[in-house]
Amino acid sequence: MARYIGSACVLCRREGVKLYLKGDRCYSPKCAIEKRNYPPGPHGQRGAFRRKSSDYATQLREKQKARRIYGILERQFRRYFREASKSTGVTGAMLLQTLERRLDNVVFRLGLASSRKQARQLVLHGHFCVNGKSVNVPSYLLKAGDTVSVAESSRTNPYFQSVVQDLARRQVAEWLSLDAQNFSGSVISLPSRNQIDTPLKEQLIVEYYSR
Ligand code: SF4
Repeated sequence: MARYIGSACVLCRREGVKLYLKGDRCYSPKCAIEKRNYPPGPHGQRGAFRRKSSDYATQLREKQKARRIYGILERQFRRYFREASKSTGVTGAMLLQTLERRLDNVVFRLGLASSRKQARQLVLHGHFCVNGKSVNVPSYLLKAGDTVSVAESSRTNPYFQSVVQDLARRQVAEWLSLDAQNFSGSVISLPSRNQIDTPLKEQLIVEYYSR
């Protein structure tokens, strides 16, 4: 399975905003954006002040930002877009809904991982079940009513023991519910656009793929 293995902070610097790809470090003064908020590379500092971006460049950057936030490679992202455009809802909103339904994203949103990247790793290592059955596919799409839980064998793991302490104080997205004592959470309903707080202008992504 292909995946990006370069520096996460370079991606934030390229987009010029915090994408929160590294968990706790993103909230600390060590965050690279706090220290060097200009594009990476030898001409980064100069390039940041160059001419205004074209419409195409703006649309491309928004699409890249979305891919990077959710940790998805181009081919799969394009497939999500194709499926969203065939659905009956608003394409941009349906695209974001699909991204939110991914198992790795839900694990992150429930607070069981500090970043989507960590959530992906935990899912790949078989630490989660969906409706009681082990699932180790980060792109697994959840439906309304599905329950995600930490596998029985992983609950004594020191990582999950410490996470569960913090979960009790945690607020989750309104389309999810959390049962910290039972190491689990559920999808109450699929999220509508106003329930998704990811800072994206999805219309630009639609325009990018509709050229
Ligand atoms: Fe981005 Fe987090 Fe790195 Fe900051 S620490 S640049 S938010 S990945």
